[in-house]
Amino acid sequence: MAHRVTLIPGDGIGPELTEATRRVLEATGVKFEWDVQDAGADVMAAHGGNPLPDETLASVRRNGVALKGPITTPIGEGFRSVNVRLRADLDLYAQVRPCKTYPGVRTRYENVDLVIVRETTEDIYAGIEFEEGTPEALDLTRWLEAHGEKLPQSDSGLSIKPISITGSRRVFEFAFDYARRMGRSKVTCVHKANIMKFTDGLWLRTAREVAEQNSDIVFDDRIADNMCMQLVQHPEDYDVLVLPNLYGDIISDLAAGLIGGLGVAPGANFGARVAVFEPTHGSAPKYAGLNKANPMAQMLSGMLMLHHIGEHDAGVRLERAIAELIREGTSVTYDMKSSRGDPTAVGTSDVADAVIAKLQR
Ligand code: NAD
Repeated sequence: MAHRVTLIPGDGIGPELTEATRRVLEATGVKFEWDVQDAGADVMAAHGGNPLPDETLASVRRNGVALKGPITTPIGEGFRSVNVRLRADLDLYAQVRPCKTYPGVRTRYENVDLVIVRETTEDIYAGIEFEEGTPEALDLTRWLEAHGEKLPQSDSGLSIKPISITGSRRVFEFAFDYARRMGRSKVTCVHKANIMKFTDGLWLRTAREVAEQNSDIVFDDRIADNMCMQLVQHPEDYDVLVLPNLYGDIISDLAAGLIGGLGVAPGANFGARVAVFEPTHGSAPKYAGLNKANPMAQMLSGMLMLHHIGEHDAGVRLERAIAELIREGTSVTYDMKSSRGDPTAVGTSDVADAVIAKLQR
């Protein structure tokens, strides 16, 4: 029976990458019925000015699984990120970004194999913001002053950082469950509880409570700034890291840097009933339509999706085929060559052809 999956090509390099990924997923022999759906600034006009059409959300809810390309968020144009909205509307609260070094990749590190679990519905990243000078910002500033909090400057924009017991508990329960299912042995809570006592402090306290109920997995914690240094010095010491939304966003790019860059960093977003698979990287607009970007992060996100839908054998074969290409270093894009201007770099679709050839051997 075919798996019905929502396919959101996205924009920028998204359509090329999702097409390459669709081809390699089909080449594993697994049958798919793709429910292709729009999202992003390019499709707004066709959907009454809405960059995230209701039909797209309904399709993901109906199918329970989506493969998504990156989507551009124009900076400072009053355009709320489609990615943030998608996570909020579908209550995708746990983002998983495995970071693993494949032999042959260009990196200073070997043997990195860690997983970032990022909470994605709360924190200062959730989008509760008040623009400097607006009546709302002035109201809130006056309210703060009435409650004994004087801002250093009155002309401030304001962002709110909500972190709840409910949100923290469910992502730590997810992380421990994930660690157990994946045969991993340690969960590290990342925070700044020393400074933000009522948000990160609550996060750490809740993590400790959940850890007590999961004593088969080792638990420890790190302050976020120290975590960055530790990851750069000895990343091999870490296993599953659980982070609030903003630190998770930043540290997952740091971790992508450890394993050879965004071109090989896959990801997945999980809610109670739906899962959306997408790479860590964005839409890299300068490479859009050039058949140049590396499709491996998107393909590896597809590999995670294969495991999620129970197609473990296909998932293992796809990952092996990609790992072989990386090791050989021939049919790879510019970012995986020793110099960026290497004329032997191949294009996005050539990588797909090479993966398919390996799968069909
Ligand atoms: P980006 O990840 O798109 O690109 C940063 C740089 O990384 C690129 O210029 C390129 O040099 C390199 N890169 C990224 N992906 C690559 C690939 N597959 N192959 C080769 N090189 C690659 O980050 P950005 O420039 O900060 O963001 C561009 C847009 O993407 C923004 O609008 C941002 O909001 C959006 N974005 C979307 C998502 C998402 O859809 N989930 C995630 C992050 C950023």
